[in-house]
Amino acid sequence: MKILVSGAGMAGLSAATNLVTRGHDVTIVERSSHFRVNGSPIDVRGDAIDITAKMGLLDKIREHRLHMTDQTVFVDADGNAVAPLPVAEFDDSGDDIEIAREDLANLLAEALPAETTVVFNDSIGTLTEDGTGVEVRFVSGRTERFDLIVGADGLHSTTRRLVFGPEKQFVEHLGVYVAIADLPAEAGRADLPNPTYNYPGRMASIMRYHDRALAVFEFRSDWVDYDYHDLDAQKKILTDAYAGHGQWRVPELIAAANADPELYFDSCSQVHMPTWHTGRVVLVGDAAHAASGLSGRGTTLALLGTWFLAEELREDDLAAGFARYEERQRPYVRTGQAAAAGGADLVTPATQEAIDARNERIRAAMS
Ligand SMILES: Cc1cc2nc3c(=O)[nH]c(=O)nc-3n(C[C@H](O)[C@H](O)[C@H](O)COP(=O)(O)OP(=O)(O)OC[C@H]3O[C@@H](n4cnc5c(N)ncnc54)[C@H](O)[C@@H]3O)c2cc1C
Repeated sequence: MKILVSGAGMAGLSAATNLVTRGHDVTIVERSSHFRVNGSPIDVRGDAIDITAKMGLLDKIREHRLHMTDQTVFVDADGNAVAPLPVAEFDDSGDDIEIAREDLANLLAEALPAETTVVFNDSIGTLTEDGTGVEVRFVSGRTERFDLIVGADGLHSTTRRLVFGPEKQFVEHLGVYVAIADLPAEAGRADLPNPTYNYPGRMASIMRYHDRALAVFEFRSDWVDYDYHDLDAQKKILTDAYAGHGQWRVPELIAAANADPELYFDSCSQVHMPTWHTGRVVLVGDAAHAASGLSGRGTTLALLGTWFLAEELREDDLAAGFARYEERQRPYVRTGQAAAAGGADLVTPATQEAIDARNERIRAAMS
């Protein structure tokens, strides 16, 4: 089949590889000018580890394995350690593999079969489906016909909006925003564990791995309406959220975020849909079932779902194949989305009392 994959994130890249490997003719269209590989380390867990083995990637993923969570400590305003991050509350098992998002994205991009077509700087504009295919008009003005569209365009999926309706129907905001920025000044400093500072409803953290460093922010907020592609708007929302707080290294980290042309900023939200397919269009990854950064399972779910989709896809009966994909993927999504519960209370408590109680609880559990 001639397949268009919208989005070249973890879901789009793995979908493309799995579909090309099974003989399909795949084009990926990515809105950005390049593969967006930045972000904080992510986890490959459970059955997704077996999937990466089947994709021939597991050995390389293991070579890039990180151990970040067990080096993370909560600190006070003077930078003194007050409690370690309780790793057991994050990991499912010791087999979970933590890896830099950029390393996994690069491995997936390198694994793309040579015959995959990748188009950057473009996006689906309209989709018109008839009995035998889907006519796609791209934002660039180009048109092309495909047998199947795979929407892998993330939490704010264009494919989902065009085919299933406005995102407000499906997206549930969990009351927290996350931002991740490069921190070049810290690069290479591996002498300290990763410090994580809280004040009520706010978290600011430094993560160091390889020769890189990141500033990571999580803050509580109601839903904010803004243009998701407006980087200046994202920087303003972030800066306003931390305004007036001069303690620890908050001003310096906010300045780094404002200087980063690739700042990652989004809400911690989940996508809940009654079905992920209709006609010749199917959704995968965050577009279908975002679990939020609080779950630590978005990438695992993307790897699982795109494998199931490729295995189950049936040219003679698309609906039956999609139904089997959903049937296999749904249980993982239920578990993954449920894992987000409590994540914000641990990492970004709402009040000073809650911050103190968390630290006390962790210390008590250690003694
Ligand atoms: C830059 C970036 C950094 C991230 N950092 C973290 C992190 O630190 N921690 C975490 O837990 N999760 C992070 N995420 C989310 C995480 O990658 C996903 O939850 C998970 O890997 C599932 O991936 P996905 O491919 O479904 O969605 P995403 O990773 O969001 O990928 C979607 C892709 O589609 C592209 N796209 C969007 N709209 C269109 C369009 N209309 N047309 C074409 N392409 C489009 C995007 O540019 C992106 O490349 C990040 C996502 C991105 C894009």
